[in-house]
Amino acid sequence: MRSPILDYLDDVLERTDDFDAGAVADYIPELAAADPNRVAVALCTVNGTVYASGDVGHEFSIQSMSKPFAYALAVEDLGLQTVLSHIGVEPSGEAFNELSLDPESGKPRNPMINAGAIATHALLTGDGDTATERMIDLFSRLTERSIDIDEAVANSEMETGARNMGLAYLLHSSGAMATDPRVAVEGYIRQCAASVTVHDLALMAATLANAGVQPNTGERIFCRQTTKHVLSVMASCGMYDAAGDWLSAVGIPAKSGVAGGIIGILPGQVGVAVFSPPLDAHGNSARGVEMMHRLSDDLGLHLMDAGRPARSSLRETRVADVEGEPATIYVLQGDMVLSSIESLTREIVENPPKTELVIFDMSRVDEVLPVARRTASEMATKLLDEGYCIVLVDPENTVTDFQDSQGRNVQWWSSERLEQGIGA
Ligand code: GLU
Repeated sequence: MRSPILDYLDDVLERTDDFDAGAVADYIPELAAADPNRVAVALCTVNGTVYASGDVGHEFSIQSMSKPFAYALAVEDLGLQTVLSHIGVEPSGEAFNELSLDPESGKPRNPMINAGAIATHALLTGDGDTATERMIDLFSRLTERSIDIDEAVANSEMETGARNMGLAYLLHSSGAMATDPRVAVEGYIRQCAASVTVHDLALMAATLANAGVQPNTGERIFCRQTTKHVLSVMASCGMYDAAGDWLSAVGIPAKSGVAGGIIGILPGQVGVAVFSPPLDAHGNSARGVEMMHRLSDDLGLHLMDAGRPARSSLRETRVADVEGEPATIYVLQGDMVLSSIESLTREIVENPPKTELVIFDMSRVDEVLPVARRTASEMATKLLDEGYCIVLVDPENTVTDFQDSQGRNVQWWSSERLEQGIGA
């Protein structure tokens, strides 16, 4: 049986079939030769299954969609503060190949425009590996296959790369970039010439959606903080001078490339990728933008569209004898975020436990966000202050760092001990 998700992706292609606006990029001669009729769409949820339709095996150069990944690698290498001291995070409102420097600091405005991306590439170093080799290795780990550089595209762009070279010389001469401008531009152009399919891009986008963990291999490629930062920069700067329109209409962090690809990410849910070579006046794939609008509307991707509120963390409250002693058992569930933990604390405040022994059964909890961790440990401290004894049943070690400052009566039990204790 064919998945209805694939049928839906076919439908997106069909519904945009008569869309023929835009023109293929011609400032890189090799891109001017692209077949304007090639088209593909893919999506990959954080579970790692890729659904793709159209010219799914067709390879094209990643171009500027490499920028967020190079930026993420630089942040992982050097730390966010160091990278921010070289490259800003303000939308430029200008075309991708403008110099766009902050007038006060002289830093490139952001890492999604060429000036910032060349400076980002220049920050990447490695143990003897060139920055480009590291990028290709990164792409391969993200896509679960060996990614190659399209040498024809790279050579073609090198031959006509005067503008990028000019940007790099200006960055170098103003002190904003220490690396030899030719080395930085050549590496950057090769990074942009990595050859990918929509299938690859969906996996890359899904890794960003999955807080930096490649969904199939389980490899943590970027830390959660880096991923959050990169997605924020993509949201405000990813679509060049169309970034504001994009965020209000499509509403997800995204990045386009001049070969015709666009990736978009709904954090925690899905990565999407589209491809169609003709570009609009902003340098974004014209049909790709149209497809992204439809995906966003049909699949409810817009970030500002409030989803179903997180359900309560409190699954049930039971009073039972445990190991012969009366106990109040709070059975918790799901992700503990602000809105879900609030209902738990309200229940405890309004109906304080009537037994001295209070058990928090966290065996059904998936993740505890820092805000929930703080609130829960403050709640636990208050219960201890009132003289309660607290037991945590936390097989996944979601709250390992909870400690009562006065070392009072907190015990850690296994799920088996709780089960046997209730049965006893
Ligand atoms: N390699 C391209 C350039 O620097 C990337 C531009 C883009 O994809 O928007 O001109």
